[in-house]
Amino acid sequence: MSEHKIAMVGTPCEIMAASKLQDYTDSPIEVKLGLFCMENFSYKYFVNFLKEYDLKMDDIEKFQIDKGFLFLILKTKETVKIPLSVAKRIIRKNCNICVELTSETSDISIGSIGSDDGWSTLIVRSEKGEEIVKGAIEQRFIEVEELEESKFQLLNKLAQGKINRNLEHIEQREFLARPVLYQREKDDDSISKEISESDFSDLKSNVIDIGACVLCGACEYACPDNLIIIDDTKPRMKGQCPPDCHACFAVCPRTFIEEHLRNDNEKPIGDYINVYTVRSLKHSQGQDGSIVTTILDYLLSNEIVTEALIVDKKDDLAWKPYAKLTKDIDQVVKSGGTKYSVCPVFKPLKEINEESSTTEEGVN
Ligand code: SF4
Ligand code: SF4
Ligand code: SF4
Repeated sequence: MSEHKIAMVGTPCEIMAASKLQDYTDSPIEVKLGLFCMENFSYKYFVNFLKEYDLKMDDIEKFQIDKGFLFLILKTKETVKIPLSVAKRIIRKNCNICVELTSETSDISIGSIGSDDGWSTLIVRSEKGEEIVKGAIEQRFIEVEELEESKFQLLNKLAQGKINRNLEHIEQREFLARPVLYQREKDDDSISKEISESDFSDLKSNVIDIGACVLCGACEYACPDNLIIIDDTKPRMKGQCPPDCHACFAVCPRTFIEEHLRNDNEKPIGDYINVYTVRSLKHSQGQDGSIVTTILDYLLSNEIVTEALIVDKKDDLAWKPYAKLTKDIDQVVKSGGTKYSVCPVFKPLKEINEESSTTEEGVN
């Protein structure tokens, strides 16, 4: 049993992967904080795209998406406003088949849609999430108000819009024999059977090679023989799988989704207990960042978790995202704004697994 209890922050696809890891592995993830996510960008394409504006990643202080525009806030304090319709071509292809806006399998979901400047929208989804929000209010980390009906409707409308738009892409892909497994409605027995007949080669042909991989790294984390390597673009395998292993196929958020995790697109924002608009009383930072930071601060300072799993930017390569574990709230503050590009978020969990197995071997 791991002594690590981790709070992770992730996009809806990463939170789905975390939920599957909780089901299929001895995952140390204790709390899932999900972000709202309409789309995400390829880092490589972004670098080239900026050249058209005579900019480099290093010129940018902050990214923000709002009301159909991508805002680049430069270190010079100037703002470059780019319509999302123009930035569309650097969106990751796998995002075109994503129907989830609000991280429906999280404990708490957080995003800016529906809230005024300085406030965020927060969706409580589990009893654990409810307890965390209650504690954070009592200890004056956050203040909450009910979300107005019109703003709640706006959130639902945008979530429904994402579903409708991307269901069309999904239909087109299925028509071209490029399966979108995670949207196929199967009962749990059929899913178990599919998993029992699948290994990395099926993951490769049904997810990776057809542009459905979200680059989360859950397959790499779950592989008991460490056969999966993830570089910047996609997972690869070295070696030979044992005949009875199906772990990578089971945990991937783009293979079949078990019934208890699936929404079947009938509820635009999924199941929830409560929806609030919320403001941090401890940190001030960019879009959604202050509430995520504040909740992580609450979780770490009350020792509800031992570490936070966050995505930070590399010091030597501007805005290049990488995942890391930290206990230090200053590190969490520094990482704000890195959600516009993805990286294998579960990599640091693999490293702690390897450390503990080395320690156990040492003790034996
Ligand atoms: S697939 Fe893309 S749009 Fe969907 S949650 Fe992941 S990063 Fe966001
Ligand atoms: S050993 Fe198992 S988890 Fe690893 S690549 Fe093969 S099937 Fe996937
Ligand atoms: S193939 Fe691996 S990295 Fe890609 S989505 Fe599936 S689990 Fe994540």
